Amino acid sequence: MVQILKYGNTNTYYIASGTKGLLVDTAWAGTLPAFFKEIKRKNIKVEDIGYLLITHYHPDHMGIAGELVELGVCLLVMDLQQDYVHSSDAIFAKDDRMPFKPISLERATVISCAESRAFLKKLGIDGEILATPGHSEDSVSVVLDEGIAIVGDLYPLDSVLAYQSEVLEQSWNALLSKGLQTVYYGHAKEFDVRGRRA
Ligand SMILES: [Zn+2]
Repeated sequence: MVQILKYGNTNTYYIASGTKGLLVDTAWAGTLPAFFKEIKRKNIKVEDIGYLLITHYHPDHMGIAGELVELGVCLLVMDLQQDYVHSSDAIFAKDDRMPFKPISLERATVISCAESRAFLKKLGIDGEILATPGHSEDSVSVVLDEGIAIVGDLYPLDSVLAYQSEVLEQSWNALLSKGLQTVYYGHAKEFDVRGRRA
């Protein structure tokens, strides 16, 4: 089951499972109190969150990741993202009133996309994590077997033609080949792929 948590300008998704759930993305730094209010409203305890995956390391998707790690959430980093984990630190460092904690990679779990299905299975989640570059080189998407994809800031399917980007087209083809029905974006409303095709 995918829940949408809204407490900032970025959608955070929570995939609940039998054991510990997977959180996908966070909002900007400084949103931790709002995050706590929102999970309380949704009946989620921070102890229930096993892992946090960031779709890409832009500041509006990882602002409270460092703080969540300190609270015991394990950061799940795809190997292709390793060089990007600190790419937004300088943006937050400019404002010293900003409550921002850089991520410590030492305590992160690093896996490859090829390993993701087996990894998610252990969490009770049927699906995989795909590399979906286009918006950024470190962009990944979570694809659930039930036909849901959480794609972060991947440019919408409708604009693929406008961008004329081969990378973007390949990312969407990879997603669509998984029998996608609904796409969840970082900022826009969810999108029904079947509706579009009908
Ligand atoms: Zn972005």
